[in-house]
Amino acid sequence: MATAAAYLCTTAVEAYAQNCKPRRPRPPITLTTLGPCEFNPETFSFAGTPAEQIRCLLRSADRTRNLGPQLDRVPAALASRAGQPDGLPDRDALVAHLIALGLVWDYAPFLWQPLSRARDNDPDAPQARYLVIHDTSSPFIGGRPFPADIDENRNINSLARYMCKDDWAFAHVVINRGGKMLLSRELSEPWRAMKFERATRFGTDLKGLFLHVELVQPRGSMPGRGHRNDARAPDPGFSAAQYERLALIYVIASVRSGRWLIPAFHAAIDAGIRGGHDDPQNFALDAFAASVDRLVHRLLHGEPAVAARPAATASPTAAGPATAPGTPAASAPVSPGTPVAAVVPTATETPAAERPRTQRANPVRRRSVRTVRVSNWRHARSYRYSRAYRYVRPKPGRRAVRVSRR
Ligand SMILES: [Zn+2]
Repeated sequence: MATAAAYLCTTAVEAYAQNCKPRRPRPPITLTTLGPCEFNPETFSFAGTPAEQIRCLLRSADRTRNLGPQLDRVPAALASRAGQPDGLPDRDALVAHLIALGLVWDYAPFLWQPLSRARDNDPDAPQARYLVIHDTSSPFIGGRPFPADIDENRNINSLARYMCKDDWAFAHVVINRGGKMLLSRELSEPWRAMKFERATRFGTDLKGLFLHVELVQPRGSMPGRGHRNDARAPDPGFSAAQYERLALIYVIASVRSGRWLIPAFHAAIDAGIRGGHDDPQNFALDAFAASVDRLVHRLLHGEPAVAARPAATASPTAAGPATAPGTPAASAPVSPGTPVAAVVPTATETPAAERPRTQRANPVRRRSVRTVRVSNWRHARSYRYSRAYRYVRPKPGRRAVRVSRR
């Protein structure tokens, strides 16, 4: 395809994205204990076997926003897997599934890469072990009731709220109630999203040990709890699509690690730290566990994820720019000849019109943006469609970064 280069003014991304980095340096966190689940900095893990750890780490905050008791029972789908190397689906099945979901570009090319490592990606430190589940606790709706269309409501489910135009992210992945995902940090990038990880006693030792997933959940205020408290959460807390996508991220991360990660709640790790949050609220462990089981079963036994369609009917225009033929996968990390290189191109032949609604590429990609003006080089590279576009350094004195189709 011919190179198209131009300086366009504001793109969809710029119109929405904001600076997310806290304006003032955040106060240092001094821990007096190693948390209710007793973290051991020597072994980079919490106390007990993985199955014991999740009974502590999957505790929610109760109505008074204090951490509840250790769980008596954790769904077997989670307890039997956490920390174990067995029963992982193979990468090719996962790639085929990602293709069917239209999510191949963000996740498939990296399946052969390890996750982030502790000590800020120290090659000798262990890979990420914990998948920390958060809720966004936004948007805030005050004293109003949650809307009836909470799972489809565009304001509530806007992922633009979590796009940052500075070098900042809220989590690795944000999942809205329709199941759309924003990959803010590739899973190999160490990123901290909890107070516990930032505690001064650890330095950067814990940076990279935890992966973070935010699930969109609006919050409202609860009467009698003080000004602008956000203690009121919808119940049920999350949509089925969110559990499905969270299960997908869990499987992807575990396959990359070679071991099932240990799921954890933010509230359980930051409990006891001043200003620690209560998320996620109203998380249904059984629903998540069932989603994991279903997905793994599908990947191991080859059941189709969605109705497959013949590639022969593909039309490049229908596929849209994000999946235009000839667009290489990000995949720089995947060398030709690996299975993904062989499989990925078929994804380019999926007409957008035939993809299920929740599986459409995210809103940014739907725009036919060929050139993106950004003021920050690192920011340009962090855009998810950096896979489809090539970024060129700006000429001296120019703010814009020139971008052209590969
Ligand atoms: Zn959180």
